[in-house]
Amino acid sequence: MSAWCRVEQLTGRRYVRALAGAVAAKSLNRDEAVVLLKARGDDLEQLCAVAAKSRDLGLRDAGRPGIVTYSRKVFVPLTRLCRDRCHYCTFATTPGRVESPYLSPDEVLAIARAGQAAGCKEALFTLGDRPEERWSAAAEWLDAAGYADTLSYVRAMAIPVLEETGLLPHLNPGVMTWEEIQRLKPVAPSMGMMLETTSTKLWSGTAGATTDHPTRSRRCA
Ligand code: SF4
Repeated sequence: MSAWCRVEQLTGRRYVRALAGAVAAKSLNRDEAVVLLKARGDDLEQLCAVAAKSRDLGLRDAGRPGIVTYSRKVFVPLTRLCRDRCHYCTFATTPGRVESPYLSPDEVLAIARAGQAAGCKEALFTLGDRPEERWSAAAEWLDAAGYADTLSYVRAMAIPVLEETGLLPHLNPGVMTWEEIQRLKPVAPSMGMMLETTSTKLWSGTAGATTDHPTRSRRCA
């Protein structure tokens, strides 16, 4: 048996074991969860049914069976400039198409207050990824306003939104280092980034490329 066949066989056994464990509602470790990403067809249906049952039991145990919760949020488009060029993006634009590279602090607070008055609970900061790295207009605006970079401005705006409106900032500033996340954490109960794909084929091949930036196949806005 070739080495490749042995690997396939081993993976197959792990998959069967992991699937059986999931169906029996046993806790899965990381490797088992990873191998179950291969699930398709009936196996996938079975996994989804188990996951739904687990969710329903959790809701029942918490005393709120069948209840789906959500929080109203107001969007704060802090800047529509971005260093990336995702081809599907309808959010990012160029400096010539916006009045200012960034919303001013007054504009941010006005949007947040309008959201507060409408019953929102969260302020969703939408923005491009580090626009100052691509656009001089963004870098100059930040410099004139006294901020080292976009993330510093995001942090500086999350604080008054939180303190003056009570809305919880949810930040979507793009790709960040661990240290940058830690810096924003005290002013934002949640942060997000939508990952479009982890496939390298989408940007390394000629067909289907959705971004000109090989390190980020994602949607942030
Ligand atoms: S990173 Fe986000 S904002 Fe920037 S171009 Fe891509 S989808 Fe648009």
